[in-house]
Amino acid sequence: MLKVENLQSTLERCEEYHGHLCTGQIMGVRMARKGLELVAAEDIKDLIVFVENDRCITDAITIATGVRLGRRSLKFLDYGKMAATFVNQRTGKAWRVASRGHAELPPAEAKARALKEDDEILLTWRPVTVSFNPGDLPGPPARIVQCARCGETVLDYRDVTLSGNTAEPLCRACGHGAYYRTCDTAPAAAEV
Ligand SMILES: [Zn+2]
Ligand SMILES: [Zn+2]
Repeated sequence: MLKVENLQSTLERCEEYHGHLCTGQIMGVRMARKGLELVAAEDIKDLIVFVENDRCITDAITIATGVRLGRRSLKFLDYGKMAATFVNQRTGKAWRVASRGHAELPPAEAKARALKEDDEILLTWRPVTVSFNPGDLPGPPARIVQCARCGETVLDYRDVTLSGNTAEPLCRACGHGAYYRTCDTAPAAAEV
């Protein structure tokens, strides 16, 4: 069964990966240890973890569980919350584990607390159900299309079709607007 065998050595790996040993690393490992215990996954291939922020705890959960964004076993939802849901795909069991939160404590005190307190003091956990779309799971892409506007490839049903427009698939950037804008002129440094 996947588990956090040794809190101390896991924290050392987290510190190396994350760059410092903060309260977030400790809380992330505590959340991962609880989540793994609850879903009892036998194999890393059965585990999917949804994290609800992109701060310190997410690095710790990644290291402590072995899930990876690039393996589609780590899902990021930008809720800004100290919580994660652990899913055992084989059994369908899913548990959401959240930090009770003690942001008001000075860092040294918060760290000591996160190290020594019981799960019941630091965390809450409850069973949940998570529904997956066919394009969300690990494995080969469930759909591959080309954007009718920019020509780039779009995987796993992330393409969109605009109502009233053609039925041709568009990427989200072409369909809904992108986070980037193309520069018209090449930067000076690129000129030879
Ligand atoms: Zn940190
Ligand atoms: Zn496009």
